[in-house]
Amino acid sequence: MTAAPKRRRTVPLFAVYAGASLVPMVALGAVLAVTYRADTNNSAMAEARSQASLLADDVVGPQLGATPLHGSIPATARPAIAAAFNRASGENRLLRLRIRDMAGVVVWANDVSGQTDAAPDDEAADAAQGEVVTALTRLNADPGDVGPVGPRVVEIYQPITVGTARTQVGVLEMYLPYAPIQHDVTAGLTRMYGLLGAGLAALWLVLAAISASTTRRLRKRAERLQYIAHHHVASGLLNGEGFADALQRHLEAGTSSTPALALIDVSRFREINEALGRSHGDQVLLELGRRFAAVAGDGALLARLGGDEFAVASLTEHDTDLHAWALRLQAAVAEPVQADGIPVLIEVAIGYYRCEAGQPVDELLVRADAALGRAKSSVDKCAGYVDRPDHAAANVALLPRFRQAISAGELELYYQPKTKLSDSSVVAMEALVRWRLDGELLPPGAFLPSIEQTAMIHPLTDWVARTALAQLAAWGEATSELDVAINVSARNLSDPGFASRLLAIVAESGVAAHRLIVEITETALFVDPDAARSCLGALHEAGIALSIDDFGQGQTSLAYLAALPVDELKIDRAFVSRVVADRTHAAIVRSIIQLGHTLGLRVVAEGIERDDEYARVLALGADIGQGYLIARPMPAHALPEWLRAYRTAGSRAAS
Ligand code: C2E
Ligand code: MG
Ligand code: MG
Repeated sequence: MTAAPKRRRTVPLFAVYAGASLVPMVALGAVLAVTYRADTNNSAMAEARSQASLLADDVVGPQLGATPLHGSIPATARPAIAAAFNRASGENRLLRLRIRDMAGVVVWANDVSGQTDAAPDDEAADAAQGEVVTALTRLNADPGDVGPVGPRVVEIYQPITVGTARTQVGVLEMYLPYAPIQHDVTAGLTRMYGLLGAGLAALWLVLAAISASTTRRLRKRAERLQYIAHHHVASGLLNGEGFADALQRHLEAGTSSTPALALIDVSRFREINEALGRSHGDQVLLELGRRFAAVAGDGALLARLGGDEFAVASLTEHDTDLHAWALRLQAAVAEPVQADGIPVLIEVAIGYYRCEAGQPVDELLVRADAALGRAKSSVDKCAGYVDRPDHAAANVALLPRFRQAISAGELELYYQPKTKLSDSSVVAMEALVRWRLDGELLPPGAFLPSIEQTAMIHPLTDWVARTALAQLAAWGEATSELDVAINVSARNLSDPGFASRLLAIVAESGVAAHRLIVEITETALFVDPDAARSCLGALHEAGIALSIDDFGQGQTSLAYLAALPVDELKIDRAFVSRVVADRTHAAIVRSIIQLGHTLGLRVVAEGIERDDEYARVLALGADIGQGYLIARPMPAHALPEWLRAYRTAGSRAAS
C-alpha cells in the first residue's frame, strides 16, 4: 500500500563505466598504431639505406679510381653502373640513380634529369661530408628537377668510398620507389589493427562485464540500504523518515488532492509490553498495522513512527469529515487483538490534520502531533488540529467562556454503569460531565481543575445533580432499580449552603434520596475536614449515600475515615490497572478491600479494562466494578439500549 519511491532517471553507473573505459582503450589503440606505423617506416628506410650502401660500396665504388671525382666519371665505369641500374630498375627497386662529384655536381645519371642541375643541393653537400642523408619525398620534387612531380620515393644521398682506406670519391644519389614499402607497411598495419582491435575489444568486454556485475551488486545493496533507512523492517511499514519522504514526494507531485494525515497513539502500550512480553507486544502492533491498512485503503501511506505510534496519510481521502475518517480508524481496534491467544483490549488516540497545499512536511507532522495531544485529553480520543492553544493548557483561558456554558446548554452528562461483580447486575450509573465547546467534547480534566478554583463550581455541581436526577426519572422503568452517582468537589463541601441546596434539588426531582450517591475524592476530604464532616453528615442523615473516590492516592487517617458516615470506597484506577501484573498493587487492593469490609463499606474497583483484572478484583473480594470492560461512559440517550442489550446477554459480554 505504500507508494514505491520513483527511481530518478540517471545514466546507469554501468554505462558510465563502459564509456569511461572506452576512451583510454581507444587512445591506447591509437598510440600503438602510430608507433607501429613509425617503426615500420623506419625499418623500411633502414632497408633502403643498406641497399644504397651496398650499391655504393660493392658496385659503383670499385668502378671508380681512388681519386675524388671531378666533372665526370671514367668512361670504363659507365656500362657496369648502367647495367646495375638497369637490373635494379627492372626489378622495380630503383627509379633513378645519379653520381655526384665532391663538389655536388652530377657527373652521371641514368637519365637527363639532373644534368642541368648545376647548383648542388644541401643534401649532396652533407653527403660530400661523409653523411648519409635520407628523406621521404616525391620524384622531381627538388628545385631544379625537370618533368612533372612523380610518385612517392625514398631519396638517399650515400657517400661513395673506395679502397681499404675508404677514401670518399663522390656521392651516390638514389631514388627508391616508396610504393612497395608502403604496401608492406599497410599490410603490417592492417594485421596489427585487426589484432589490436580484437584484443582491446576483448579486454573492454571483460572489464565491462566485471563492472556490470559490480554495478548490479552495488545497486542491490544500495536499494536494500535505502529500504532499511525508510522502513520499519519487522512490519514492512514505512518509518518516520520514509513516511515524510513519501509524503513530500506526493506533495511535490502537485496532485490536486491534499492528503489527510492521522497520527495514532496506542495508549499504555508500555504496560501491554510489560504484561505480555515484547514479542507479543510486537504481534499486537503488527495486527494493528494490518487493521489500519485495511481501513486506510490502497491510496494511503501507513507508517510506524515509534514504539507505539502509527501515521496514516490518505492521499485520496476526499471526505470532508475527517473526524468520521479518524473514528473509522479508531473503530478498527474496537475488537480485542489476539496476542498468542490472549485477547488484548487496545485503546488509541488519533490526531488528524488536513494538509494544505505548499505546506512543508515537517509542519504537517507538527500540526498532526498537536492534534494528537488534544485527542489524548478529549473524550472520544479523536481530535483535529485547531489554530489556537490547547484547551487543557489554556484551562484558565476558558474560564470566561464557561460562565455561559450552563445557560447555553453546552454541558452534557455521560453515564458509566457500576455493576455487582458477583452476578454482573447493574446497580448504579455514575454521571460524568463534559463540555461541548466549538463542536469538540472536552473531558472534565480539560476544564474542571480551573473551574474548581472559582465559585462557578457551585452552579456546575447543582446542574449536574439536577440533570442526573431528572435523567434517572426520565429513563423510568429501565432504571427503576438503579442509583445515580454524582461527583462533588472539595469546594462544594466547604460551601455552608451546599447540603441544603442539594437536598432541595433531590426533593424537587422526586427521586428518593437513597438513590443518590455522592462521590468525593479522597484528597477533597482533606481540604477542609471539619466542613466536610458536617456537610457529609447532613447528606447522610437525609439518606444520601457517600462514596470515597480514587481511594488509595491520599493519606486518609483511618480514624478520620472511620468517623465519616461513608458507604462506599472506590479503589483508584491506578491500582486496578496493575493488579494482575504487579504483586504490590495486588496486595494494596486486597488490603483496601479488607479495610473497607472491616468498616462495613462496599468496595468498588474502578477502571477495570481486562477480563483478568475483573477476575482478580472479584477473587480479592471487591463488591462492585466499573470500567471500560463493562462499559465506557455513554450519552444519556444511549443508556436504555445498552441496558437492554446487556441484560439480554445476561452479562458484561454485551458491552
Ligand atoms: P472519576 O469520578 O474517578 O471518574 C472515573 C473516570 O475514569 C472517568 O473519567 C471515566 O471516564 C474514567 N474511566 C472509567 N472507566 C475507565 C477505564 O476502564 N479505564 C480508564 N482509563 N478510564 C476509565 P472522566 O469522565 O474523564 O472524569 C475524570 C474525573 O473528573 C472523574 O474521575 C471525576 O473526579 C471528575 N468529574 C467528572 N465529572 C464530574 C462532575 O460532574 N463534577 C465534579 N466535581 N467532578 C467530576
Ligand atoms: Mg467518580
Ligand atoms: Mg475515580
